[in-house]
Amino acid sequence: MNNKKIKEYQEELEKIEKELKKGIKEDETSPDFGDDSDHDGESSEKVEAIVDNLGIAKGERDRLEDVENALTKIKEGKYGSCEKCKKPIEERVLDIDPESRLCKACKK
Ligand SMILES: [Zn+2]
Repeated sequence: MNNKKIKEYQEELEKIEKELKKGIKEDETSPDFGDDSDHDGESSEKVEAIVDNLGIAKGERDRLEDVENALTKIKEGKYGSCEKCKKPIEERVLDIDPESRLCKACKK
């Protein structure tokens, strides 16, 4: 893979990383919302937003891990190799999923 292409993926990954960190941080700084409905107007509004995000919160954390892993690999010059079979990951896969750890064949 050429450096220009890697740079593109890196920029994309950094963008995703930023977005994910923003979402996760908002999640963590929120009050407990479980069964506790005793909130003032301002915080209950925020809680509602977090409840909406809850379903994907776990996925976001996992994804952030993959994104950071991919960024580390770029720095180490190992980006774009499948972690399982060590073959290059198809650019078609990386275009959709730049943090992908596996090639198309190993994903199945
Ligand atoms: Zn593979």
